[in-house]
Amino acid sequence: MRRLVIVSNRVPGLKERSAAAGGLAVAVRDAMARRRKLWFGWSGRTIPGPTRTVPSLTRVGWADLATIDLSERDYAGFYIGFSNSTLWPLLHYRSSLTEYRRRDLAAYLAVNSAFADALVPLLEADDLIWVHDYHLIPLGAALKARGVTTRLGFFLHVPFPPPELFATLPRWEELLGALDAYDVIGVQTSKDAAHLNEALAAAGVAPRAEPFRAGIDPAAFATLARRAARGRDPLRLAESIGGRALVLGVDRLDYSKGLPERFLGFAALLQRFPEHRAKVTMLQIAPISRSEVAQYRALRRELDELVGRVNGEYAEFDWTPLRYLTRSVPRQTLAGFYRLARIGLVTPIRDGMNLVAKEYVAAQDPADPGVLVLSRFAGAAEDLPGALLVNPVDPDETAEALNTVLTMDLAERQRRWQEMMTAVERTSAANWAGSFLARLEGVA
Ligand code: UDP
Repeated sequence: MRRLVIVSNRVPGLKERSAAAGGLAVAVRDAMARRRKLWFGWSGRTIPGPTRTVPSLTRVGWADLATIDLSERDYAGFYIGFSNSTLWPLLHYRSSLTEYRRRDLAAYLAVNSAFADALVPLLEADDLIWVHDYHLIPLGAALKARGVTTRLGFFLHVPFPPPELFATLPRWEELLGALDAYDVIGVQTSKDAAHLNEALAAAGVAPRAEPFRAGIDPAAFATLARRAARGRDPLRLAESIGGRALVLGVDRLDYSKGLPERFLGFAALLQRFPEHRAKVTMLQIAPISRSEVAQYRALRRELDELVGRVNGEYAEFDWTPLRYLTRSVPRQTLAGFYRLARIGLVTPIRDGMNLVAKEYVAAQDPADPGVLVLSRFAGAAEDLPGALLVNPVDPDETAEALNTVLTMDLAERQRRWQEMMTAVERTSAANWAGSFLARLEGVA
């Protein structure tokens, strides 16, 4: 069996071996248990001098890991700059937040070349190489320029916007031209594939993108949630909400996630449906992310103010409507929190897939399941018709959906959950990775 070489900006940590590890790591490890694997990427460390193209090698139980350190300058231009201040907002349809600096693009291309320089000496003749996400679009072309002839695949985890929007990026044709190096190009949804294919055609590039729907390991996550629900932190949470209905949100603190709109939606519920006051508590977990980028700091200030305002207006001396944490919570604890929540509130303005939505479904108690309120602009909306779909920019629509779930009978909750769980099982991480690799290997 051919060895699989995975390349992503970050390499999963040495400790992430349980079901608590992130989706990509779990999918790759479980779907390809019998294959030899090399995972290559940035170490997460920056160094004062130039970027090191001699990788550090570590062997963990399930893979060989190889990482390089980036120079502080390359990190600023490649990661903070072009990846997260240019491509991230643009790919999430937010052209007004998109910044552009020639020196950031230069650093982006230089880091992709450095990745290729460091990776080539580690390659074997018939490796399958699977490159992940927007940080590494030009990597395939950089590998080919260094004489690599083996099969190359690329998967874009984030959305791809309408071509007119993408064409606001200087030198967009060149960037898409680099995708020509890949034998297989995967995206999350059929809409992303349609947009990217239109843009590729306009740039005169021959290959075509196909959707491969990302997911989780539903059975493992359900088991995790069942056990976690009896754990210390979920029991403490249950006690502290004291029989009220729990509305739960879990998102990195990112402007793509629709957090201000979500808080306004919860406030609209309390204002327009006062019968729920003091009977419902919202918990938002929003770990700080990319705080080096100014827009993320501005968002955090906006949320701090909004939480204060909503609580100031609606709280009782013995009830805080909106609890808000900017720390991260371990995934197994989250699994127990999901199971306690009557409503999973997932309302991104635009999101590639949104695995939290699928985790919430898998974590429910089938005998008494909660309901997912989901943005129609999350990739997961294509998979989860059993959710209540909302347009997240309209707080009243969110409030109405929350009210609908709070007054929904058990039979309808169960019917919706069954429909969603079937879809979560059909679009599992194992199916996602397995079908991508079958295409890459040329057998599907
Ligand atoms: N997550 C976590 N702890 C937190 C917040 C999130 O472990 O405090 C995990 C969550 O369980 C999910 C992932 O982070 O597996 C987020 O994936 P998603 O696709 O929803 O969003 P992304 O962060 O990739 O945009």
